[in-house]
Amino acid sequence: MTIRKDLIKQILSNKENYINKIVRKNIINLIPYQSARLLDKNTLNNKILLNANESPIISIFSLKKKIFNRYPEPQSKKLIYLYSKYVKLNSNNILISRGADEGIDLIMRTFCNVKYDKILFCPPTYGMYLITAKILDIKYIKVASLKNWNLNINEIKKNIDNVKIIYICNPNNPTGNIIRQKDIIELLKITKNKSILVIDEAYIEFCSKQTSINLINKYHNLIILRTLSKAFSLAGLRCGFILSNKNIINLLIKVIAPYPIPTPVIDIAIQALSPNNLIIIKNNIKTIMYNKRWLILHLKKCNLVEDIFHSTTNYILVRFFNASYVLKKLSEKGIIIRDQSHELTLQNCLRITIGTYYECKKLIFELHKLSY
Ligand SMILES: *Cc1c(COP(=O)(O)O)cnc(C)c1O
Repeated sequence: MTIRKDLIKQILSNKENYINKIVRKNIINLIPYQSARLLDKNTLNNKILLNANESPIISIFSLKKKIFNRYPEPQSKKLIYLYSKYVKLNSNNILISRGADEGIDLIMRTFCNVKYDKILFCPPTYGMYLITAKILDIKYIKVASLKNWNLNINEIKKNIDNVKIIYICNPNNPTGNIIRQKDIIELLKITKNKSILVIDEAYIEFCSKQTSINLINKYHNLIILRTLSKAFSLAGLRCGFILSNKNIINLLIKVIAPYPIPTPVIDIAIQALSPNNLIIIKNNIKTIMYNKRWLILHLKKCNLVEDIFHSTTNYILVRFFNASYVLKKLSEKGIIIRDQSHELTLQNCLRITIGTYYECKKLIFELHKLSY
């Protein structure tokens, strides 16, 4: 996350602000998640947005329900049924959430005691594990991943005391790598009877064989997070799923807001999980993977590029010789990608979401011009 200058200014000037005597201290100093959609709010139109790992492929939906005077079903049976078919689990293994981000928060609020408990995560990884812990004032431990991005299992073992939740992102954002199945099993053994293992599978549809779903009914402490925001092309919908054994699901239901999923969201999510749409999504994934191969092929020939990390997802992490130059120049041309150079061990790294074929071509065209 880049630190926004305007926010820092605001934080400093707030020293005189009386409300700061009332608010929790951790919130005064909090640097919030830098949403990719905040960065370019004035100029969202006619830009090529390759910075939020969204799908570039559009599906058009229309609402079937048009009346909203009643509260929605707290957990839509039909939507849960459709998702249970899709993931081959039982309905009582599933909770619908307001995106995977709500899942991250809900699990912390359900399992962590602010005074004693910690969470553990492995940078470089998704930023919301840290930010949610900071918001809730829960202590955290970072155990850096190894050079090849595998988990440092030994170091995790050494730091497990008082850890209530381990958050693992698989495949990992922003590096794009898969977490080895044997490491996941090892973590489940380490955490047995002690802590919860959360596997964030936001991008799993791009490498669906790697899912840990088969482990859910074998281990009492595994939770998997899913979302419709990435492969399903529905980032604007804000719909995700929490998958676990029924004991854990029943605890999370106690904590989640009373009517967390709006009626229009349920309506459209049901359409998105129809058999026909699932076929469309599969094809979209193929298209994105094709575009990715094309993009990598051409990035390899680009003399601004130092390294391209292997990715199983819809984004690639690229180390440039001069990332800030590339970032700035591309932005001037209306191509927005995500700076990762401030993250642990990611100096000069930028994350590029795979766009349409046209967007990939435009990106290579602009990089080619810069490399003279
Ligand atoms: C995008 C993303 C999320 C957030 O998903 P939403 O369902 O849109 O809240 C969670 N985890 C990871 C790793 C992500 O990249």
